[in-house]
Amino acid sequence: MKLPGHPDVAYRDGQLHLDDLPLRELAARFGTPLYAYSRRAMLAALAPYQRALAGREHLICYAMKANSNLAVLQTFAQAGCGFDIVSGGELERVLAAGGDARKVVFSGLGKTRAEMARALEAGVRCFNVESEPELEVLAEVARAHGTRAPVSLRVNPDVDAKTHPYISTGLKGNKFGVAHDRALHAYRRAAELPGLEVVGIDCHIGSQITESDPYLDAIDRVLDLVEAIESQGLRLHHLDLGGGLGITYTDEAPPAADALIARMLERIDARGHGHREIVLEPGRSLVGNAGVLLTEVLYLKSGEAKNFCVVDAAMNDLMRPAMYEATMAIVPATLRDAAPSTYDVVGPICESGDWLGRDRALAVQAGDLLAVLSAGAYGMSMASNYNSRGRAAEVLVDGDQAWLIRDREDPRALFAGEHLPPAR
Ligand SMILES: *Cc1c(COP(=O)(O)O)cnc(C)c1O
Repeated sequence: MKLPGHPDVAYRDGQLHLDDLPLRELAARFGTPLYAYSRRAMLAALAPYQRALAGREHLICYAMKANSNLAVLQTFAQAGCGFDIVSGGELERVLAAGGDARKVVFSGLGKTRAEMARALEAGVRCFNVESEPELEVLAEVARAHGTRAPVSLRVNPDVDAKTHPYISTGLKGNKFGVAHDRALHAYRRAAELPGLEVVGIDCHIGSQITESDPYLDAIDRVLDLVEAIESQGLRLHHLDLGGGLGITYTDEAPPAADALIARMLERIDARGHGHREIVLEPGRSLVGNAGVLLTEVLYLKSGEAKNFCVVDAAMNDLMRPAMYEATMAIVPATLRDAAPSTYDVVGPICESGDWLGRDRALAVQAGDLLAVLSAGAYGMSMASNYNSRGRAAEVLVDGDQAWLIRDREDPRALFAGEHLPPAR
């Protein structure tokens, strides 16, 4: 059976394996719901990025909001990556995982003064500033610290990434970045402010992008700006082209990272900007297809209009279906020789939006294990404790080895920080 987009997930003798380990064994050892990630698959996803940029000044900053487990960060840090962070909490994770602050770019449109101060102290490589007021505040914070903050402006190129509206970020109506028309003005202001040092320019047009053209359009728009900015005597060192490359969840066919980057570089070179350092911020495409969410079937329930497969993972573990109506492949960990029935795969949470998959043909019984594929990105990192559910455990797999990289959360830990007022 062919599994979409998953070089490292395959059936052998009817048992679904991640690398060389049967998922059934992982579930027996670590329980469910369980996130399992293949280190090989992560490095294999990184390789085409590295290949395509070899021989050119570059930095691949893993956008860690996709999956911020320390072991995942360590994997990318050891492979030479930097990190794209969007909060002070993410910076602390990078440092705890042994990442290098000098390879960190700090994105996000609502940075607090405290986060700016901490990032300056740690020595991050660049702040991707998303508004003119943020420029003023960052300059102030940097001056108070007796330093200059390295900045890029995140510009909004106003191109349609042709993806889900919730994950499209480069259009005029989006909250992200500085409008194309204001960018030149904002750069002039940045150059004036003594607390800032202009180092580059940045854009990020969206997520789960499956076509090359939006990237090429964005590059043209950004290079127009670069030329306008430099004609004013300012110098920009790097071009940060963001992340957003899509993955195959079911039948999407995004370009391969190396092919896409080759086309991007061709465009950059053709316009005479080949000397610039290239920064990229891939998230989903590095981890998405490296992970699965394992869940046990609790009950098969026949409703009047539908059959339900009730599993022990829920929307608090995996938000994507509820939040974006995302379709993710769901397959049994052990193949059964039986006719499939059609089920909605749902979790135990008291919300009708709590489903993982709709109208799925599955041959399953209570007690069986299911794997939600492509769950390595925006799975655990978006998990919540809704319904007072402890978050899932996470394991990292490499070949025939597996390490527990996050304990299953004890529900009692969830209210450890809560306090009762004095009795009355
Ligand atoms: C989320 C995000 C990324 C990564 O997006 P993916 O779709 O996961 O590749 C990169 N840069 C910024 C600024 C982001 O917010």
